[in-house]
Amino acid sequence: VGSPFGIDLRIHGTFVVLLGWIVLSHLVAGHGLSAAAEGLALVVTVFGVVVLHELGHALVARRFGIRTRDITLLPIGGVARLERMPTDPRQEFLVALAGPLVNVALAALAFAVILVAQAPWWPGRLAVVGGPLLAKFLWFNVTLAVFNLLPAFPMDGGRVLRALLSMRTDRLRATDIAARVGQWMALGFGLLGLFGHPMLVFIAFFVWIGAAEEARLAHVTVALDSVRVGDAMVTAFETLPANASVGEGLQRVIRTTQRDFPVHDGARLIGFVSAAELLVAAERGDARSAIGSVVRPLDESAAPNELVTVALERLEGSGASVLPVLDAARLVGLLVPENVVELARVRERQALHAPVLHAS
Ligand SMILES: [Zn+2]
Repeated sequence: VGSPFGIDLRIHGTFVVLLGWIVLSHLVAGHGLSAAAEGLALVVTVFGVVVLHELGHALVARRFGIRTRDITLLPIGGVARLERMPTDPRQEFLVALAGPLVNVALAALAFAVILVAQAPWWPGRLAVVGGPLLAKFLWFNVTLAVFNLLPAFPMDGGRVLRALLSMRTDRLRATDIAARVGQWMALGFGLLGLFGHPMLVFIAFFVWIGAAEEARLAHVTVALDSVRVGDAMVTAFETLPANASVGEGLQRVIRTTQRDFPVHDGARLIGFVSAAELLVAAERGDARSAIGSVVRPLDESAAPNELVTVALERLEGSGASVLPVLDAARLVGLLVPENVVELARVRERQALHAPVLHAS
């Protein structure tokens, strides 16, 4: 819907359902069109505030040279997809804190206006319908700041906690502790949600999964420290010629468990096609057209001697599911995240069972 500060702003389709539900609930309650319009204005304001919160994270991250791919609005809130989180704890602390600080600033502004205008500062009841708008704005910002600062990793407060812990211990231990605290918080949210606000159950779910995922990622990163792409890439894979038909490609696809296929024109690699894309093309009735007509052109690649963590970051940033590994323009392997995670698991286990040297 727009790109403030050059960051794409997206609205998830389900958000429209929420807007429809608000209008409908007003009309069903017999509040009339003007109340429905006010309800809509409130929701738009709420999501405007969420966008500012996410921009807070994104703009501080930009100061540390980290780009934000996009900001997406969902009915349960906003998500800013940063290319990566800063590894410097001081920077992570500032990036995580920036979002809630935006809400603190907005709340202070609203409070100042309320004082000057001598408007009511208590919304009465926090319902979607009725009540003074400015007071609602004030308390919404206060709620958002407080809620986000709860140490429920990977929510903002949890990231602040991880950053503070990282200043005293190593990042892996800090992440493990923050993730454990986050999962306890998720359990609390879940219980509260069962007896109170059902939205909390959703949030509990996301926090639980997110904490586990971040902890796993931290372990993978440590296990892959100093591993080169050449030692982590898949070397047994199928390729497809660009001039073969989609139907022929599908027959090859069935013989392997591979998901993404490098496509070559006889001399060099020109791009990738996935099994799913071949199926879609066949269903469209394009089974006889050349694979070259459905290929995704190449934009990123990796070199065998570069660090696997660096290449994975680039893979993540490109949004692709696999990176070709090129040695002097020759395709020598594929970097597949799932396989790299397996390698990390093996290495972590080996490290656990390795004899402790220099023990004193
Ligand atoms: Zn935030």
